Amino acid sequence: MNLLNKAIVTALPLAPKPIVGYFSRRYIAGSKLQNALDEVKRLNDEGMCATVDVLGESINRTEEADEAVNQYLKALEAIDQYKLDANISVKPTQLALMLNFDKCVLNYSKLLETAAEFNNFVRIDMEDSSTTSRTIGLYLELRKNFDNTGVVFQAYLRRTYSDLTNLSSKVKGFNFRLCKGIYIEPRTIAWKHYDIVRENYKFLLKEALNNGIYTGIATHDEYLVHCAFSLIEKMNLPKERYEFQMLLGVDTRLRKIIVDAGHKLRVYVPFGEQWYAYSTRRLKENPQIAGHVMKAVFQPGGR
Ligand SMILES: Cc1cc2nc3c(=O)[nH]c(=O)nc-3n(C[C@H](O)[C@H](O)[C@H](O)COP(=O)(O)OP(=O)(O)OC[C@H]3O[C@@H](n4cnc5c(N)ncnc54)[C@H](O)[C@@H]3O)c2cc1C
Repeated sequence: MNLLNKAIVTALPLAPKPIVGYFSRRYIAGSKLQNALDEVKRLNDEGMCATVDVLGESINRTEEADEAVNQYLKALEAIDQYKLDANISVKPTQLALMLNFDKCVLNYSKLLETAAEFNNFVRIDMEDSSTTSRTIGLYLELRKNFDNTGVVFQAYLRRTYSDLTNLSSKVKGFNFRLCKGIYIEPRTIAWKHYDIVRENYKFLLKEALNNGIYTGIATHDEYLVHCAFSLIEKMNLPKERYEFQMLLGVDTRLRKIIVDAGHKLRVYVPFGEQWYAYSTRRLKENPQIAGHVMKAVFQPGGR
């Protein structure tokens, strides 16, 4: 990140909420479940499936998780009722992972039971490295009773290859999403160089596909999409063994390229009252957009 972008990102919290809201509209379905359902319907009509995320992150009291669980249960019911093609993605800290492990297992179990009734699936999102081992522990605990769940691995973490081989050898029908990783991690545990993260992503993807592991190929990096296309073609991989995944609002042209090539594509659809925290994170990732926000704030007529 260059100095100007760094300055922009640092100043971001000063931007008025409505302005952040204006620029982040394309990344978030809205504040209500109905907004997410409408977005999923639009995506389904265009040949894509979705995963619904109720916005919200780390909580301070275990009871705060109950609200998130209720919202996810309502989402699962509505997805079934309206016959939408979507599952849910859930952040472990939102369901009390770091406060009370057993309560977190219970919270996920409620979602998994309901999802199983509707023949649906729950993806456990991966958060920062302080949560990785516990999240894997959570997944293993849940897999004792449920098979309709999967984890996420981050290509920037050096431990990922070992986690991937370990879990795929232990868990029957192992299923994961592969992403680069979104959090800022120290060099002691994570690859920091853009090209190295890409290389590691390619390496992990190849390992997973070669070993018959169902993989959610989550990236907007066209180079990696190309690598995945080549691997799939070369291996003559059946469509039931992988899917592509992208975030709502990011590179809709690439989205179309993937769908038009006949691949399954799942779009991550976040919604909820806590849209502000999510938006600032997205904007921090893409300082170009944050730059527009700052211009709008500090230069009259600057957009
Ligand atoms: C479906 C999905 C689920 C994810 N789940 C997790 C998770 O559980 N844990 C986790 O740590 N990370 C998760 N991520 C985020 C991921 O780790 C990356 O941070 C993010 O996808 C950017 O990496 P990239 O592979 O797209 O490559 P990049 O090289 O970062 O991006 C490629 C291009 O895409 C565009 N782009 C990428 N991200 C954005 C954005 N947010 N806004 C606007 N443009 C953008 C940029 O123009 C960029 O040039 C998820 C990503 C996706 C797609």
